[in-house]
Amino acid sequence: MPVQQDDYTKTKDIIPIDRVRNIGIIAHIDAGKTTTTERILYYTGKTYKIGDIDEGTTQMDWMEQEKERGITIQSAATTCFWPPADKVKDKNKIHRINIIDTPGHVDFTAEVERSLRVLDGGIVVFDAEEGVQSQSETVWRQADKYNVPRICFVNKMDKLGADFMMTIGMIKDRLGANPAIMSLPIGAEKDFKGMVLLLEKKALIWLGDETGAKYQEKEIPQAMEKEVEKYRSLLIEQICEQASDDKLLEQFLEGKEPSLTELKKGLRQATIVYKLVPTFCGSSLRNKGVQPLLDAVIDYLPSPLDIPPVAGYNSKQKAEEKREARADQPLAALAFKVQTDPHVGRLTYIRIYSGTLTSGSYVYNATKEKQERVGRLLLMHANKREEIKKAEAGEIVAIVGLKDTATGDTLAHEAKPIILESISFPEPVISLAIEPKTRADQEKLSYSLRKLAEEDPTFRIKSDRETGQTVISGMGELHLEILVDRMKREFKVSANTGQPQVAYKETITKIAEGEGKYIRQSGGRGQYGHCLLRVEPQERGQGYEFINEIKGAAIPREFIPAIGKGVKESMENGVLAGYPLVDMKVAVYDGSYHEVDSSEIAFKIAGSIALQTAVKLANLVLLEPIMKLEVTTPEEHLGEVIGDLSSKRAKILGTETKHKTKIISALVPLAEMAQYATRLRTLTAGRASFYMEPSHYEEVPANITEQIINKNKAKEESK
Ligand code: GDP
Repeated sequence: MPVQQDDYTKTKDIIPIDRVRNIGIIAHIDAGKTTTTERILYYTGKTYKIGDIDEGTTQMDWMEQEKERGITIQSAATTCFWPPADKVKDKNKIHRINIIDTPGHVDFTAEVERSLRVLDGGIVVFDAEEGVQSQSETVWRQADKYNVPRICFVNKMDKLGADFMMTIGMIKDRLGANPAIMSLPIGAEKDFKGMVLLLEKKALIWLGDETGAKYQEKEIPQAMEKEVEKYRSLLIEQICEQASDDKLLEQFLEGKEPSLTELKKGLRQATIVYKLVPTFCGSSLRNKGVQPLLDAVIDYLPSPLDIPPVAGYNSKQKAEEKREARADQPLAALAFKVQTDPHVGRLTYIRIYSGTLTSGSYVYNATKEKQERVGRLLLMHANKREEIKKAEAGEIVAIVGLKDTATGDTLAHEAKPIILESISFPEPVISLAIEPKTRADQEKLSYSLRKLAEEDPTFRIKSDRETGQTVISGMGELHLEILVDRMKREFKVSANTGQPQVAYKETITKIAEGEGKYIRQSGGRGQYGHCLLRVEPQERGQGYEFINEIKGAAIPREFIPAIGKGVKESMENGVLAGYPLVDMKVAVYDGSYHEVDSSEIAFKIAGSIALQTAVKLANLVLLEPIMKLEVTTPEEHLGEVIGDLSSKRAKILGTETKHKTKIISALVPLAEMAQYATRLRTLTAGRASFYMEPSHYEEVPANITEQIINKNKAKEESK
């Protein structure tokens, strides 16, 4: 992708921050997110030949694997303008929309998290036939976590079985949201022609299905008048009640209809505080409803000025601090994605919350306490990039030239440092062993894995020092498969991989103490390290903490970090069955040293011995990943599917009926789910489908723990 300079750099310069919208398009896989994004890029004028997902030529899905698999993995940030510059006389009406593409597949949940963290608003796309699907629910909850205001787009109105009102019902019931119905479909399924916009009281009828088809504004069809009246009153009532605007409420109570401008303003306000969710219908594939959706992004989703000032921690003042979205404030920017690009090298995507950033300048990475040089600043488009000289508060841009900045780091001014809340990522649940085919591949393998891990915080690498084996772990089989694929293609590494394995963890369940001594007396200088540790269980997910409780001079301060290192290494390699130890507190409270013989290495070994001794007394257990599972099956197979799940240690949470199918929700250990796709196909003659995502870690039952330990022992011995 070449870097291009074109005329909307000028456009950008005259678009102030209140006319910027940073949005994401989020959905269940296959709901039509890619198609909708494509159409948005087309109608905003940035792509002239529409890509079609079915042919694998979309603009956003530019990575090879994505094209082959027809799914979106990497967030590509795209800038576009609405209404398009050539369509408006008043240039002050042009808004700039930055779209962050979020992946639809659950194995890439980290991508969704990081996008949501930096967005101001979202379009949630639903399939009008399927309604609210399990993954939409998950993404919805993630969006709740980051307080993202959103609008809904009920897509695929042209599809057989499309049901707008059913989907609205599910948005209320399953998501607990308060949808404001903004449009009513005209015609349904193959006769879907357009929609009535309720607030504006007008009908839009498209003249064709093809991309670029024009629409006409018409009178409301007579047969729909009653329905329109009903839903319009409902909408006005919702707006007047939910907007915190006494004037609106007063008018409503007096039986007067507020003006269109007042209603839109009220709805905008209620949407931004997430009291209402404007909901539209349409069909991206048939090119209907995309323009009103873009208008709604401008009308109802927030600009960076509408969201509260960002909060962070000032390490110099040692206090919480807020930064406003203003260009003249000190810099505060969050790195939310790192990508290795074949053309320009390392790209760091950032969201600027306050201040201004210029190319060629120096910035301070407040998280790492390090200066970094900003090489070039790029505005990203799906198919090209545009070099810019500066970027300001509210913008999303990519930097070329940062060396040490990772996802989640804050960029600031050294004199006014601030650390913004980082992005939280889930723990990997599945791992596999990987080895180079030839000696020559060895180095390339570790280099490529390191590069891929830099980009993706849910991808981890571990090398077992004893066996020399490299183990990679991630969020699902597809996740690892794609990473291995990228390693082969982009880095040209030949490697063999083992079978995917469940990523178990170890933890302790009671407090215990342990002693570690490493004393060697031989000829010249000896070795002397000695410490006593206490280990304590922490709540699930609390992680690891190391505390120095030494009073007096039992162990000189400079040796404490070495003990910590020994402890950490032992924890990584596990004690019970070779899985990492998690969620525990380790306190070093006593020990002794030798004037001459004590060294860091001796204390490190002592720390490691003490840890192993202590945890063996602390009632070690194994933890396993539990998955949230949803199976959709025709009613007649319900019994078999549930029976099969029960034999897999599943906890059935409930069943729901939708159309003529049943949806079973359950929690089930990942270890039991190998080959489930095949199993389900056999059980239901291919008529059921399932969706699965990591939920949490839970203790493995004792009898199964024993089996795992024995299996691992046998493996060790056969080596
Ligand atoms: P994503 O996984 O959410 O990105 O979904 P895609 O955009 O890839 O769409 C999934 C499938 O649904 C593709 O085969 C699309 O052609 C199809 N699709 C998308 N939008 C519509 C629509 O409005 N109507 C119909 N009937 N199909 C659609």
